[in-house]
Amino acid sequence: MADFGGNATEGYEQFEATSLYCPHCKETVPVRKKLLLILPEGDEYEYLCIRCGSSVGIKLEKGKEKVKILLEP
Ligand SMILES: [Zn+2]
Repeated sequence: MADFGGNATEGYEQFEATSLYCPHCKETVPVRKKLLLILPEGDEYEYLCIRCGSSVGIKLEKGKEKVKILLEP
């Protein structure tokens, strides 16, 4: 098995066909999703305009739910 120097392209980019209104471009533009914060209640993402790069929205994704088991007597 030959190894070609680890040039493996990990083309697994999470691309969502999301479009939001950008106040700078004054139209609906495709946006890029950027992870901002990892919070206990979910991950906070920022949506950036792919044209001018300004933030056009923030979203909290509640993907991972931590199950808290409270034992009440
Ligand atoms: Zn823009």
